[in-house]
This record gives sequence, structure tokens and C-alpha cells, in this order.
Amino acid sequence: MSERDEIAVVGAGLAGCLLACFLARRGYPVALYERRPDPRTGKVERGRSINLALSERGLDALRRIGLDEQVMADALPMRGRMIHPVEGEQQFQSYSVSGDRAINSISRGALNNALLTAADALPGVRIAFDHRLVGLDPTTGDMTFETPQGKVAASASVVLGADGAGSAVRGQLLGYGVLTESLDFLDYGYKELTIPPLGGDFALDPNALHIWPRGTSMMIALPNPDRSFTCTLFWPTHGTASFASLGSPAAIEQHFATHYPDLIPLAPNLVDDYQHNPIGVLGTVRCTPWQVDGKVGLLGDAAHAIVPFYGQGANCAFEDVVELDRCLDECDDEWSAALPLFQHRRLENAEAIAQMALANFVEMRDKVASPLFQTGKRIEHALERALPGRYVSRYELVSFSTTPYAEVRRRVRRQHQALGAVAVGAAALLAGAIGAVIRRGRRG
Ligand code: FAD
Repeated sequence: MSERDEIAVVGAGLAGCLLACFLARRGYPVALYERRPDPRTGKVERGRSINLALSERGLDALRRIGLDEQVMADALPMRGRMIHPVEGEQQFQSYSVSGDRAINSISRGALNNALLTAADALPGVRIAFDHRLVGLDPTTGDMTFETPQGKVAASASVVLGADGAGSAVRGQLLGYGVLTESLDFLDYGYKELTIPPLGGDFALDPNALHIWPRGTSMMIALPNPDRSFTCTLFWPTHGTASFASLGSPAAIEQHFATHYPDLIPLAPNLVDDYQHNPIGVLGTVRCTPWQVDGKVGLLGDAAHAIVPFYGQGANCAFEDVVELDRCLDECDDEWSAALPLFQHRRLENAEAIAQMALANFVEMRDKVASPLFQTGKRIEHALERALPGRYVSRYELVSFSTTPYAEVRRRVRRQHQALGAVAVGAAALLAGAIGAVIRRGRRG
């Protein structure tokens, strides 16, 4: 392989580390710049998305660099949703018709560290921690970083921004007037709370993603390998019923006792968690273009952050890396061709999952508890059983396949249209039959 110029990857988060691995395997020298200190030696930030659900798209990417088994060794498979009504029994809703397909609860920190260590071990990868990108000239690839020692200059033949939803690389392109962006924030925020182990064991079923659907608010809980659960409460940030409305410990306890009564005995640190854990923001980032002259590119949340309600942000970011690798293959590593091709292929898919994630918020918050929704799910599973491979639910296609997100939307639309046509035909047949019976009755 011929000598290649150094590629800069900004952000050693999930996408950046995976990307460094893929690029190093292609023979590129890679400089991975990260604003934080090495997370393998430091402490985890309080209340910041401790775990996440990894599904087929993410696993497919990890398999390609041989990291899937290591990551899955500590994964906790969640085979369905466990609904917690305000009163009454918990109800389990399987994710798949067979009941054995699962999304996986993974420690975000452990996943990031595994990817970082994998990248670090590859020849050609150097990692610069405590390097916050503050300047970028998209015409030259010249970068400026803030470090504990002061400002540092660096340059690369290609700069790839994998620096998350608040991307500084995207901000620089915006400043140069070569990119436009839109940020759609929800008026909901999120706060993390903890359910510790109970008597040394999980306090809830560890094989499910737990949901407390409450209409205007919602809480979910995912299991952790230490037998605790991390709960995430989604609630408006302002208004009479919102994060802003609970001040005192008594008000916090009263609120949870009313709306989440089964949480109270399980979360002894509830008030402390509530008062000290930060409120995170939720939103959708859209921007265009995702690349400038084959010299600067964006991927992962930096290009298309989405709301977390389908558990797909990281999965989608990983899929970006696989697609970019494919584009480099097809374009003989000609970045000026590969980056535009990558954008062309991924843009509609990123938009599709952004919209499905927003729609899933309504489903999780409002619909999952309703008998009508539950009947619909039973019918859907019956259809999947009756028409294997021909009728496949949206959830299954998103979480358990690598079918491009935009194709998932088109396919689900086609399935619904076909079902609608069948329903109309069946209704017409039924109406005809009833009419015949009535006519016969009149004659008789
Ligand atoms: P990030 O993970 O944000 O990484 C960006 C990196 O860039 C960080 O290390 C950061 O320190 C660094 N950086 C930032 N600015 C600079 C700078 N100026 N210079 C240098 N470095 C910089 N996704 C799922 O797939 N499943 C889930 O279940 C799921 N749950 C979620 C729950 C919540 C509450 C939230 C908020 C998100 C969730 N996501 C989930 C989404 C997922 O976290 C993101 O999509 C994913 O982290 C994106 O990866 P990334 O590498 O693009 O960005």
C-alpha cells in the first residue's frame, strides 16, 4: 500500500474511535484529537447517559473490527419492553415475534474505552487528549487546539469531525459560511436516576427495557452489569408540570409517589439524584453539506444528532463509519469523491431515523400503555408469523437488521398500504355478505 497522508479525526467518542480503527486498517496514519483527558484514567461525569442500547447496526460495525465479542461479554440483552402502569401489574411486550431477539444494554464508558484501546493498539494511530478544537481552516486543513499547555497548531490532509452534537468542526464550517444548520430542540429534557441492586440482585427484570409511560412525561430504565438500573426521566424543562416545578425534597418525593409509586422503594437516592444530576437537552441536528471539497467531513452526531427514543444515535453513527469505509473502497480512497458519495448515501437515512425517533417518543410516552396499541402489536406479531419475511415490523427492521433506515420507512409504508387494501377488501366482502343475509331475511 502506498504511503498515505495523515487524517485528523476530531472527537474520540464512539464514532471517532471506531473511525480511527477503520482508517488505520486502510493504512492511514490517524491523529485522533479529544478535548477530554483519557477517560480510561479518569472519572465518569455524573448523570450523563451511563448506558445505551446497542442493536444490530452497531454490532455489525463492531464485528468488522473483531470487537463484538468483547463488547457483548458485558451486555445485558433486553428482549422487550416492561410497562409500568401507575397502578397494577407490569406488562411485558416482546420486541420480536420469536421473543428471542434483544437489544443490548451496554455501558457507554466501557464501549468507548474498548474502542479507544482498540484504536490505540493499531499502528499509525496517535491520540491527543486534552485537545479541544477551536479553529479550522476548511481550505487548508489547518487546525488550532486549546490544550492545558496553551494553543497548539496542527494540520491534516483530511479533517473528519466526529465531535458530537455540539460539533466544533461543524461550528467552524458554519463560521466560514460553507454550511447551514438547523437545531430543533424539544421542550423536554432528561435527567438520570439510579435504582441500585436490591439484596445484591437486580431490583427489576434485567431482560427488559423498563418504561413508565405517563403521557406528558416518561421514564425508562436500562440494566447495568453491576446489577443497578439507570433510569432516564424525560420531562418538559419548563411549565407547571416540569423539571422546573419541583424544588424541595418533599415536592420531589410527592411527585414520584404519585406518578412513579413503584420507584420509591427501589430508589433510595432519588432525591439526591434528582437534585444533583444535570438536565440534558434533547434535539435534532440537521446540516448540509456534510463535507467541504473532500477536505473536511462530518459524521455521527456532528452531522445528524437525533433524539434518543429509538436507541439508534450511536448505532447510526457506527453505521456511518461502515458506509464511509465502503465509499472509500468504491472511490479508491479518493476523498473528494468518497465524502460526497457518503453524504449522498447517508443523508436520507439520517433524516429517516431522525423522524422515526421523534415518532417513537410519542409511542413510548403515550401509546404503549393503551389496550388498542397492545392489540395492534399482537396483530402485528400474528402477521409476522403468518407472513414470515414478507411482513416485518418497523421495530424489527430498525433494531434487528441493517436495512437502510429510509428503506425501512418505505417498506413499512408499503406494508401498511397493503394491509389497508386488504382491510378495505375484507370490509367490502363482509358488507356484501351482511347485505345478502339481510336481503334473504327480508324475503323470508
Ligand atoms: P459523541 O459520543 O458525543 O462523541 C463526541 C466526542 O467528541 C466526545 O468524546 C467529545 O468529548 C469530543 N469533542 C467534542 N467537542 C470537541 C472538540 N471541540 N475538540 C475535540 N473533541 C471534542 N444511541 C444509541 O444508539 N442507543 C441508545 O440507547 C442511546 N441512548 C441515548 C440516551 C441519551 C439520554 C442520549 C442523550 C443519547 C443516546 N444515544 C443512544 C445517542 C448516542 O449517545 C449518540 O448518538 C452517540 O454518542 C454519538 O456518537 P458520536 O461519537 O457521534 O458523538
